[in-house]
Amino acid sequence: TVSVCWLRRDLRLYDNPALCAAAAVGDEVLVLFVLDDRLRRPAGAVRLAYLYRCLRELDERLSGRLCVRVGDPARVVPEVARAVDAIQVHIGADHGPYGRCRDAAVRRALTSEGRELVATGSPYAVAPGRLHTAAGTPFRVFTPFYRAWTAHGWRAPIAEPAGVRWATLTGAAIPADPDLGDVRLPPAGESAARARLDDFLSGPLAGYAKRRDIPDGDTTSRLSPALKYGCLHPRTVLAALADVADGGADPAAGDAEKFRSELAWREFYADVLAANPDSARADLTDALAAMSYEPPGRTFEAWKWGETGFPIVDAGMRQLLAEGWLPNRVRMIEASFVCKDLHVHWTHGARWFLERLVDGDLASNHHGWQWTAGTGTDAAPYFRVFNPVAQGRTYDPDGTYVRRWIPQLRDVPKAKVHEPWTLPAGPPAGYPAPIVDHAAERRDALARYEAARDAR
Ligand code: FAD
Repeated sequence: TVSVCWLRRDLRLYDNPALCAAAAVGDEVLVLFVLDDRLRRPAGAVRLAYLYRCLRELDERLSGRLCVRVGDPARVVPEVARAVDAIQVHIGADHGPYGRCRDAAVRRALTSEGRELVATGSPYAVAPGRLHTAAGTPFRVFTPFYRAWTAHGWRAPIAEPAGVRWATLTGAAIPADPDLGDVRLPPAGESAARARLDDFLSGPLAGYAKRRDIPDGDTTSRLSPALKYGCLHPRTVLAALADVADGGADPAAGDAEKFRSELAWREFYADVLAANPDSARADLTDALAAMSYEPPGRTFEAWKWGETGFPIVDAGMRQLLAEGWLPNRVRMIEASFVCKDLHVHWTHGARWFLERLVDGDLASNHHGWQWTAGTGTDAAPYFRVFNPVAQGRTYDPDGTYVRRWIPQLRDVPKAKVHEPWTLPAGPPAGYPAPIVDHAAERRDALARYEAARDAR
């Protein structure tokens, strides 16, 4: 018998419960990936190229036996199951709003032919929907979620299934990379992800808690694209982290704990999205239901291309365009600027991020934006408005980050590099003056907030 393992966000062989489940029941396993237009559309060129590279690496590891098909999974998956006469199709559960509908449609189609869709595992250490507050409701605040998540725990990683015979079936070619221009992508695929994990644990993890907010340098794991596509399971990361922390005298103890809690934010946001699928499109809470916003116009366009005149904001957007990735601190600075300096609704900025990020993920991205906007989880006070100059001075005190991304600022002295408009001759040639007056926009944001609060 042949069983099908339909991979989606689990592009790896190690610690892949769905693959192990397929291997346990079939004499042969057909590994399938479906290029589904509904998923390809919101992803920009950067994420598509990264995905295709992950698929190519996986195909190599399967000696060219990855079967790629194109089209609507509700049609394609039963077609494939029929072609190899598989009774079972194995998947890792998808808890996202689209994934759940898609899988329900595929399940209906398979069942109608007497076949089965079997879900084992998920892209998270603790599956979304598993944890509840004492009152039996889903969590809305991170700290109690983190306590429950830690107490729940997760099982150890499972080995790659041994001695599997990979079935073959004609499929489509993995598409060539879309044109990326000058964008530089991180290495893709399972081997690169495992190598990066090892490098991180033996390098930047020491000092992570203190240095993770510094945007310039090798201060964080950069595992987010690998986690997005499941080249690495978070359980693998957590197990490796525990080994480091258990290794006796460990100067990085606080660092391991901080890193674990960041992984838990990813799990928290997936849990929140699973419980509130509408938060992928609209405010999670009604805290700012009466808020007035501006339509995205000229200033929003300037923000998108890194031309606001605020160095830390522009450096971030230029890094996003060049690498498809941004450090967390800079993502927060960008979101605050859009919501509180431009008064544009978070959904516009979130959409631009999703198009450009190589790790673009609905749950982490949209809830990261909502947290900053003040419409999301936790009590993130709306009146906490990031000052781009103060943020720059605190996290990029020497200006190395902004100089790296904005060549026009290379010769600006450190004291002025985060506010070049205060130079006697104004900003250097080729770099814009600020497009807004931050102090005035801050007052405007607070006035809008108070009006929205009074209207409730
Ligand atoms: P590390 O600091 O090494 O953290 C390790 C892992 O923990 C990350 O890879 C990620 O999986 C998880 N993590 C860390 N911080 C967060 C967080 N605040 N929320 C959720 N998970 C976290 N992350 C995405 O993966 N995709 C996105 O589309 C995304 N959009 C964001 C948008 C905004 C406005 C904000 C504020 C945050 C967003 N994040 C997103 C979260 C975070 O910024 C990135 O996960 C992190 O910067 C990735 O870098 P890293 O892998 O080096 O992180």
